[in-house]
Amino acid sequence: MGLAAKPTAPKVPLGILLLATWILDLLAVAFGFAGIERGGSAGLPWSHGLFMSVVWSVVAALMTARIYRDHRAGLVVGLLVFSHWALDFLSHPIPFSSFSWRSWQWSYGHPLPSDLPLLFGSSPKVGLGLYNSISAVEATALEFGMFILGAAVYATYVIKKRKAGRSRPA
Ligand SMILES: [Zn+2]
Repeated sequence: MGLAAKPTAPKVPLGILLLATWILDLLAVAFGFAGIERGGSAGLPWSHGLFMSVVWSVVAALMTARIYRDHRAGLVVGLLVFSHWALDFLSHPIPFSSFSWRSWQWSYGHPLPSDLPLLFGSSPKVGLGLYNSISAVEATALEFGMFILGAAVYATYVIKKRKAGRSRPA
């Protein structure tokens, strides 16, 4: 998503766009460390709840718009932060517990109940559960395919920009 978004926000460095898509997971790690989120049956309401994901997206959008003095850049970064929740909504819960590099195999979990809270602790949890119904190999292929698509959009953008730069008079 970060790669594919670059043409729509040329002012924002690629690293920031990629970071935007990871923010909810970075928050989950930080909140886990701080003891604010426990995971398990409570889910991750402060990093992955629908309400807080919207809050983080708006905060990121406002900060980006201010830093780059560009409302569109802010909108793009805000949408990138939220795209993490949207894609998690499609794919979660994730029943593939781990990948063993030694045997090059996924260990399969059971189909799990939805784990993305709408608000906080006791609120209903959602998630369409795509990864409950496809194999870990299919899921990996899907994610790799999305990465290739994003990389293609980004590569096309870079090539076009280089050509435009070359044709401009010195
Ligand atoms: Zn996540």
